[in-house]
Amino acid sequence: GRKFCVGGNWKMNGSKDSITELAKILSAGPLDPNTEVVVGCPSVYISFARGLLPSSIGVAGQNCYKVKSGAFTGEIAPSMLKDVGADWVILGHSERRAIFGESDELIADKVEFALSEGLKVIACIGETLQEREAGQTEAVCFRQTKAIASVVKDWSNVVIAYEPVWAIGTGKTATPAQAQEVHAALRKWFAENVSQAVSDSIRIQYGGSVTAANARELASQPDIDGFLVGGASLKPEFVQIVNARQ
Ligand code: 13P
Repeated sequence: GRKFCVGGNWKMNGSKDSITELAKILSAGPLDPNTEVVVGCPSVYISFARGLLPSSIGVAGQNCYKVKSGAFTGEIAPSMLKDVGADWVILGHSERRAIFGESDELIADKVEFALSEGLKVIACIGETLQEREAGQTEAVCFRQTKAIASVVKDWSNVVIAYEPVWAIGTGKTATPAQAQEVHAALRKWFAENVSQAVSDSIRIQYGGSVTAANARELASQPDIDGFLVGGASLKPEFVQIVNARQ
């Protein structure tokens, strides 16, 4: 079976004070030991958060660059994330794609390099509302997944996060049926384009307005293997979301 995996994406939020509070809540839990938990932390706070969070919780960067080091002002290398305590990185988030203009190709380069440097990767995909309404949901998700798949050799270090852009930060969660439909299509894509073994083992998270109130029903869908949680990952209800399969 696939281990349920819940990520929190703190985005550009938090302070030493708020991270201290959140770490207390996550330490108290209790968190389902059958769920893998990762929090995506602003890079400047990774070391601080790593020192406060239980060792069972993984820490992720929210971005990294595609080369080892050099004249890339403002960028952060995978080895730097590892050096300060991260073991994961979130790549290809829709905010990186839309606001910072990251292409499928750049995201693929980042995924390839992050994996080669020993980070695990949460790779994000998902269609916009316009694309969904134009009937392009699968085409867009498959195109984004294909770019990522073209550089991955060992899928055991990759989690896919399906995050429909129209559901992110909007309170408009995909229905369990809508999410399950895309997750199943993605799993079929992996069977046809990568291998049956990867299709069976790859974890596909759902992201977009996940809350304690909707997590259980989403988590009951056969192809939903966890969540990538934005706003609610900053709140005590993240504990309930982690425990959605209990
Ligand atoms: P929200 O949970 O705030 O909708 O954000 C989802 C997300 O973008 C996680 O990466």
